[in-house]
Amino acid sequence: MTTVPGPLETSYDVVIVGSGGGAMTAAALAAKAGLSTVVLERTPLIGGTSAYSGGACWLPGSAVQQRAGLPDSTEGARAYLAAVLDDPDPERVDAFLRHAPELVATLEADELMDFEWIPFSEYYDAPGRVPMGRSIQPASIARADLDPAVMALLRPPVERDRVGAAGRSTLSGGQALIGRLAAMVVRDGGTLATEHHVVDVRREGAGRVTAVVVDTPTGPVEVTARRGVVVAAGGYEGSPELRALHDTPGRAEWTMAPRGTNTGELIEACAKAGAATDYSGEGWFCPGLAHPDGSGTFTLGFRSGLMVDQTGRRYGNECLPYDRFGRIMAEAPERIPSWFVFDNREGGRLPAIAMPEGEPADHLAAGTWVTAPTIEDLAAAIEVDPGVLTATVERFNDFATAGVDEDFGRGEDEYDTFFAGGSGPNKALTPCDRAPYFAARFVLSDLGTKGGLVTDAAGRVLDATTHDPVPGLYATSNAVASVFGSRYPGPGAPLGAAMVFGSLAVRDLLAG
Ligand SMILES: Cc1cc2nc3c(=O)[nH]c(=O)nc-3n(C[C@H](O)[C@H](O)[C@H](O)COP(=O)(O)OP(=O)(O)OC[C@H]3O[C@@H](n4cnc5c(N)ncnc54)[C@H](O)[C@@H]3O)c2cc1C
Repeated sequence: MTTVPGPLETSYDVVIVGSGGGAMTAAALAAKAGLSTVVLERTPLIGGTSAYSGGACWLPGSAVQQRAGLPDSTEGARAYLAAVLDDPDPERVDAFLRHAPELVATLEADELMDFEWIPFSEYYDAPGRVPMGRSIQPASIARADLDPAVMALLRPPVERDRVGAAGRSTLSGGQALIGRLAAMVVRDGGTLATEHHVVDVRREGAGRVTAVVVDTPTGPVEVTARRGVVVAAGGYEGSPELRALHDTPGRAEWTMAPRGTNTGELIEACAKAGAATDYSGEGWFCPGLAHPDGSGTFTLGFRSGLMVDQTGRRYGNECLPYDRFGRIMAEAPERIPSWFVFDNREGGRLPAIAMPEGEPADHLAAGTWVTAPTIEDLAAAIEVDPGVLTATVERFNDFATAGVDEDFGRGEDEYDTFFAGGSGPNKALTPCDRAPYFAARFVLSDLGTKGGLVTDAAGRVLDATTHDPVPGLYATSNAVASVFGSRYPGPGAPLGAAMVFGSLAVRDLLAG
């Protein structure tokens, strides 16, 4: 249990629960505005899934895109969302779009924050899409340039946390995002408290939320929030019970959230205190490379190879944006697990970006990968009809030769070829023809769920009965029903939305 810079007090202006991108944005802005601010984080480390992330932020229309000379604008993003979203809440969408540029300007005015454009295709071919994307990310920064006490609390990158890979002296992506924001919080007088697990909120009848109840290693404490509580504690992806209750595809052990983090109990506690919830069973889905320990890891950017179901047949364009492919996986039981079939053209490594991939030898020893000299033998090893798998691979190879995927259109969209660098007529279609062959087991993973508390355009949590804002209770992050509903518009949508609504919550707190 650590508190930086000093001991925990019993009362703050603002109590922020969780320490991901939305939480830290709210905390940094609240502290900078002179509010006494505490961040309560249940684990020994700050940053959650956000610290694992690439740090891409879908924050359209800002000065960063202008500096990069992109054809981006708030109105362009509005057109894009209008085409992409199903059943949006117009007020929340409008609030997101209007405040995204302002948030970026406010953060960039601080010497500790700089953003830059990151080329990364958006996920739908729709009006308003910016070629090569409009996402931005915090610039990398040396660990040594940020407060060492804060750095000691920063959750390591995913490959280090999950498989023990080497650390980094330069913070990039989500590490830079959380590191920079957390350093701002502490510099401006805020407190970071780890191993402080918020288990309940105190509400005066049907009135104001005034405090939170916190489990700590030394016993329970109550922390008063004079102005408000901001719940930014992630979704319920780590809870098998809530996943089952809300019919959410995938499994708790396959999610990318760090172990022991986002289990949704605070969403439930708020609901018990009268908050409205909207559980859609939604998540930010992705194919997950199965690991020997039973986990699944976020995989994108397939360069070659093909995904087959348990009958040995393809069922989708493997180069689709990961959330869209994940949703196709979820449509039929024989697709989970799937097998990703690839050849030896990358020396036995997975021709994709898996976070993390792990060592091929460990996968082969554990049976999460198998290898064989022929496709027929590979089929036998994964208990698929050899005739079916051979026919699937031959058909795929014919498509690669012709440059046209007649079944699923792989390679037709800008996103499909963003990571793929094949040399044939279609960069996203490379034959699977170099022995030995491999099959890697895939499950349905996610980057978090995105159903939960119902909030308005100011980030205020609504009362389930009156539909009015609950005084003193705000929420952002994957703890809320997403402004994007079932859609994942482009790289950085989870963080972008969490950050904007975190900042709007602070604006409302200050106004009140
Ligand atoms: C490898 C990878 C790359 C990704 N890249 C991107 C990207 O580039 N851009 C993007 O937008 N998204 C990306 N994502 C997805 C994104 O990181 C997550 O969806 C998002 O960060 C979730 O933010 P959050 O605040 O909801 O949850 P988290 O970041 O997980 O933070 C929640 C925190 O709250 C704490 N907590 C939970 N319950 C409590 C409680 N009751 N009391 C106190 N603390 C609590 C948790 O321990 C955790 O630290 C990526 C994900 C992964 C895994």
